[in-house]
Amino acid sequence: MSITNNLLKIKQETDSLGITLVAISKTKTVEAIQEAYAAGQRIFGENQVQELVEKQEALPKDIAWHMVGHLQSNKVKYIAPFITLIHSVDSLKLLIEINKQAKKNNRIIDCLLQVHIADEDTKFGLAYDELIELLRSEGFPNLENVRIVGLMGIATNTDNEKVIKEEFYELKTLFNGIKTSFFRKNDQFKELSMGMSSDYKIAIEQGSTMIRLGSTIFGAR
Ligand SMILES: *Cc1c(COP(=O)(O)O)cnc(C)c1O
Repeated sequence: MSITNNLLKIKQETDSLGITLVAISKTKTVEAIQEAYAAGQRIFGENQVQELVEKQEALPKDIAWHMVGHLQSNKVKYIAPFITLIHSVDSLKLLIEINKQAKKNNRIIDCLLQVHIADEDTKFGLAYDELIELLRSEGFPNLENVRIVGLMGIATNTDNEKVIKEEFYELKTLFNGIKTSFFRKNDQFKELSMGMSSDYKIAIEQGSTMIRLGSTIFGAR
């Protein structure tokens, strides 16, 4: 199947549900992204700063670029001029740096707080108590150039659907709790980024608003 056909198929499944599709184009060529763009896709995600910057320069300027990979504070400055959404905020330090660079660029940058939900040590993200600590920290309310629009999580890489379902269920439950406790009067806190090629159907069942698909669209990496 072509990239165009893959996209049309996914969009049939997700558009009517109001789910945002982020096309994860990491390791894929500019030409492959152009094909997806020609098919109407405008939201693309990358996980490495250098690759993201190079592709942003090479491709049409109406693309909304999302950063989905682990982000080091010292690299925020390279993406701050154009990034639409950062999915992978996992510390107050990083958030403070994003705020600083956003201010320099006279922008407000949308961010998701990444929560560690997987049963693996390797996946980044905030533990539940760290998430609460961040939201309660003294400096947090003063970050005027970042906007927290929701949460993101990556499930365990397993064939066991029950495990994946439970992790997504927990993240959705946490999202509801955080919304009530910290963002009650804030309509912008509404995104739940969960689901990749192997598990997006389960993620949608569990309340995802944003799925991040790479290989389903572009083929295996
Ligand atoms: C690579 C990646 C994806 C997409 O993975 P696929 O399995 O190809 O759909 C989604 N989210 C993150 C954070 C990624 O790094």
